[in-house]
Amino acid sequence: MKLVIGHLYPRLMNMYADRGNVICLAQRCRWRGIDVEVRNIHPGPLSDAADLDMLLVGGGQDREQLLASQDLVETKGHVLRDALGDGLVALAVCGGYQLFGEYYRDHTGVELRGIGVLPAYTIHPGEGSQRCIGNVVTMWHEEKLVGFENHGGRTYLNDPAAALATVASGFGNNGKDRTEGARWRNVYGTYLHGSLLPKNPAFADHLILQALQRRFGVPSLPPLDDTLEAAAHDRALKLAGA
Ligand code: GLN
Repeated sequence: MKLVIGHLYPRLMNMYADRGNVICLAQRCRWRGIDVEVRNIHPGPLSDAADLDMLLVGGGQDREQLLASQDLVETKGHVLRDALGDGLVALAVCGGYQLFGEYYRDHTGVELRGIGVLPAYTIHPGEGSQRCIGNVVTMWHEEKLVGFENHGGRTYLNDPAAALATVASGFGNNGKDRTEGARWRNVYGTYLHGSLLPKNPAFADHLILQALQRRFGVPSLPPLDDTLEAAAHDRALKLAGA
């Protein structure tokens, strides 16, 4: 059994160790005897994404995000939309999350288009506005997700039911409605850096299982010894004052 992980814009979009999400997914698969191929996807044409099992993209500053937006919309949009519509499992963090939504309007009012798979749009309130920075705890079903956020943009969901999680402490999507992230099919967007997945192993395994179910019909995953991961999760909860 082998999973192919596409790492979208590993050079352009890799803030706060978002690359760790790719490493975490690959390692949790390998510990279970599942082969993994990580495929870096850089700006430029992408003919097909049907053989990808997971797609990951991290955060980036506005300058990098502009380049990513142009490439995403002009050269990759239709291929990725088809694959994501077909159930490709994806995790998009912060700047990447914003570009999986409809658009990101930056602090100067320039609009960066997104691929619009997530029912969300993002607006930066302008120069001098408060950034959303700090440790975050959210509730994702019965699980607490922990991470670190740093964004100027405020994300609004067209449909509040599309939120990934509810904010317990921190800003989340916009600091107002207590939503965090967004979900459509198997596509997840979130503001949580960290890296997110190493200290939220339940969420990492959720993504792996969805990918395995889609490709191989695998019904469940054997558990791993998550002693270290649980300690990192607890530490992040303490940092957030939760
Ligand atoms: N440029 C975006 C913002 O500040 C994203 C930042 C990030 O990816 N950390 O809203």
